[in-house]
Amino acid sequence: MAIRKIRYIGDECLNKVCKPVQKMTPATRELIEDLFDTMHEAMGVGLAAPQVGILRRVCVVDVMDGDPIVLINPEIIETSGEQTDDEGCLSVPGKCALVTRPDYVKVSSLDMDMNPVVYEGEGLRARAILHEMDHLDGVLYGERASEPYRDIEEEEDWEE
Ligand code: ZN
Repeated sequence: MAIRKIRYIGDECLNKVCKPVQKMTPATRELIEDLFDTMHEAMGVGLAAPQVGILRRVCVVDVMDGDPIVLINPEIIETSGEQTDDEGCLSVPGKCALVTRPDYVKVSSLDMDMNPVVYEGEGLRARAILHEMDHLDGVLYGERASEPYRDIEEEEDWEE
């Protein structure tokens, strides 16, 4: 287990389409553990392999709902509804922007033993799953935002 270096916007790893995981290996298990460690250390709710420079279709999501998940080669099965809220990304530090996404998502994935599983999410969980899956296709949330990136500090000032 280790904290890996998070890549920031401008790093070419964040614009690449990632390759599927073919089989579970010790290196992939270590990657998944490190993704969780790195995400938790950075206080994020999700992290994708390309954000630590690994171009594989793996990401983790933990929105503090007691049900953290690993997504391996995930595919969207179904989406519904709509939500618009501020979104941020560990690869775009200090910034946020309004993004509209489905309010519900159902995805297929593989589990740690490469067996098929299905996960569902609503609200923040749906947003985080869709945000992380975008990373696997080289898409940053700014491309889906209805406005340019804003500084998060502005909001903190407003709250004081
Ligand atoms: Zn992100």
